Amino acid sequence: MTVQLPELPFAPDALSPDISAETISFHYGKHHAGYVATTNKLIADTVLADKPLTEIILTAAADTVLTPIFNNAAQCFNHEFYWQSLSPEQTLPPPALQEALDRDFGSREAFEQAFQAAGLARFGSGWVWLVRDENHHLQIITTGNAETPLTRPNMYPLLCIDIWEHAYYLDYQNRRADYLKNIITRHLNWRFAGDRFSSR
Ligand code: MN
Repeated sequence: MTVQLPELPFAPDALSPDISAETISFHYGKHHAGYVATTNKLIADTVLADKPLTEIILTAAADTVLTPIFNNAAQCFNHEFYWQSLSPEQTLPPPALQEALDRDFGSREAFEQAFQAAGLARFGSGWVWLVRDENHHLQIITTGNAETPLTRPNMYPLLCIDIWEHAYYLDYQNRRADYLKNIITRHLNWRFAGDRFSSR
């Protein structure tokens, strides 16, 4: 058993023009596939070789000797979560999640602005996340490089956006704000987020 590259949940051109098929082909086919291949190479013949991805991530996070494994394995999780967070069609939050957005941000539109601002403010490479905390309240967090909310027991991720330059540079060059705005207003998978928000 090895870490798998999951199938993309949409066609490579399904998000065009907001994310082009060319970006998806590099991002999924080279970057994400590369993290999967490197993870499998690094865990081969170790005690982590047959473990589930989340266990690999949590084990590697606890030991700095395993940082290369953590970086690659966490990027496998983060990218799989990113593809799930995107929707070709416009979706809307289900009622329970909409109520939580109103309670914690004022409105969906206010959340969208705060989500964009947080993604823009993260210096360098990383991720912006909508998470549910231990009180079932919503929070926006950002993580650097491969860091992931999986290592934070009180943070249950609902949505994420990749803000590494490889996620947008072919389509937007340096204009991260435009990439974030287009994804946040048109392509967030609120059905996926709503299912997770109401789980457990
Ligand atoms: Mn990426």
